[in-house]
Amino acid sequence: MTETLTYRHLFGPGPSNCYPEAIAALGHPVLGHLDPLFIEILDRACEGLRQVWGTGNARTLPLSGTGSAGMEAAFVNTVEKGDVAVIAVNGLFGERMCEIARRAGAEVVRVDHEWGRPIDPERVAAAHPSPKVIAAVHAETSTGVLSDIAALGQLKGDALLITDAVTSIGGLELLADDWGIDVGYAGTQKCLGVAPGLAPFTISDAAFERRVKDPQSWYLDIGLLGGYAGAASGSKRTYHHTAPVAMIASLEAALGRVLNEGLDAVQARHAAAGLALQNGLQEMGLELFAAEDSRLPSLTTVRVPHGVDSAAVRSYLLENFSLEIGAGAGEFASTVWRIGMMGPNANPASVVLVLGALKEAIA
Ligand code: PLP
Repeated sequence: MTETLTYRHLFGPGPSNCYPEAIAALGHPVLGHLDPLFIEILDRACEGLRQVWGTGNARTLPLSGTGSAGMEAAFVNTVEKGDVAVIAVNGLFGERMCEIARRAGAEVVRVDHEWGRPIDPERVAAAHPSPKVIAAVHAETSTGVLSDIAALGQLKGDALLITDAVTSIGGLELLADDWGIDVGYAGTQKCLGVAPGLAPFTISDAAFERRVKDPQSWYLDIGLLGGYAGAASGSKRTYHHTAPVAMIASLEAALGRVLNEGLDAVQARHAAAGLALQNGLQEMGLELFAAEDSRLPSLTTVRVPHGVDSAAVRSYLLENFSLEIGAGAGEFASTVWRIGMMGPNANPASVVLVLGALKEAIA
């Protein structure tokens, strides 16, 4: 059992280390999923999620499943056979969107961009005259790139805008309503500082009206899930599936922590940690991968120096510092490292630790 008690400094692309409040909540007694006490926790979690999403959407809830469940839910509830889905691809998660939309029956219009660069909202919006949905990743974890979702929202026309906020929620500015996001999904294991297992999800009333009425997935049918989360029926809950009560209690505790600190302060903390890390890496002579004006604070991509064995460095960090950083994604698997500064890890001490450990590992 001892290996399960090993503390790792999780500076990879996720999961990140969790807020202490999130871990403490996992030790609470398990409640029934329809217990009035649990319903209060769920209500507070949904309200907290509205705040980190920047939305007033009634249907804002934690889906049972990881970020990919959120991605599936976004597409199975909005597209079916014959619908056109325009998808911006500038990394691995845009690619995954294409695959999920295809399986949901959509005719996928894929708009490719160079990996490491943000999406071009005008090119994406011009890709088809009348798509049912347009989808893009806000914070591409595979490349460390931030894209301008607000600009895409202004150009979306009648299409529903689907946004992946897995690596931005709880750490970066996210204004779903102001930006015109109709359907958004995220994950708990990054800036929200909760273990993997839930997918914060939000859908506007207008998008809900235009949803697929009998989606292929029963489990992720937002028409049924809204009733369970209380969104559609006031405080009356209908059983859909057994909620992962411990995970939701953990999320509720982390959201309380984040909102107590204040969203502005949390975002400033992430911004400062990301910038300090990126400056420190460059001072070490390393080259950053993501385009300069679009770098994510929460996830930094850096090129592995010539002659350095990427995997050996990662093993050294794990063995000597119990510290994890990520390999690159796709064709950059062995030429890029991905370093996260998320949730409780977004602080100056983390920056010093990562830079010092990396310096020793590549010496
Ligand atoms: N989208 C993005 C941007 C991600 O970074 C991830 C995971 O890292 C996912 C989707 C998928 O989430 P999960 O691995 O939690 O299913």
